[in-house]
Amino acid sequence: MIPASTTVYVAMGANLGEARQTLEIAATELAATPGIQDLTLAHFYRTAPVDSSGPDYVNTVARFLCTLSPEALLDRLQDIEQEHGRTRLYRNAPRTLDLDLLLYDQERIDTPRLTVPHPRMHERAFVLAPLADLAPELELAQGSMSALLDTVKDQEIGRLE
Ligand code: ATP
Ligand code: CA
Ligand code: CA
Repeated sequence: MIPASTTVYVAMGANLGEARQTLEIAATELAATPGIQDLTLAHFYRTAPVDSSGPDYVNTVARFLCTLSPEALLDRLQDIEQEHGRTRLYRNAPRTLDLDLLLYDQERIDTPRLTVPHPRMHERAFVLAPLADLAPELELAQGSMSALLDTVKDQEIGRLE
């Protein structure tokens, strides 16, 4: 058996339907995936959509240990998205569920399907705030969590209970 030694962070977002409930169910599904262990969820945050109108987003980040390859993990994330995507009304409509692979240990991946670390994570308060809940000491290539959080402090974001 391969030891579950890879630490993975996944950003989770939803802005349609019962967004928070969707994230909670998706986290349960992720945690139940063979090859995924010890899943921890950050707090939930509410943010107004940045480049569009529509309902607020609810966001969080999950951390877990993983024996799946990055590609197999992305397959699983996309399956879970699809499962929750049945209420999508039109092409490019706001998604019921978005799952982005942020970090796969220290690995750097650059393929047509997968860029890791996620190239836009460091500029998004809705990613950095929950990530900092789980890993306040984390250092990204762009800086420390506290320095990065300072650069996004104008982005409105509210922590949910
Ligand atoms: P953003 O990546 O800016 O948050 P998005 O989440 O809205 O945008 P999607 O439409 O969900 O983008 O995904 C488009 C494609 O991005 C996916 O089909 C996937 O192959 C690719 N992709 C590349 N890197 C990653 C990653 N780290 N996590 C998830 N998907 C990724
Ligand atoms: Ca995304
Ligand atoms: Ca995505």
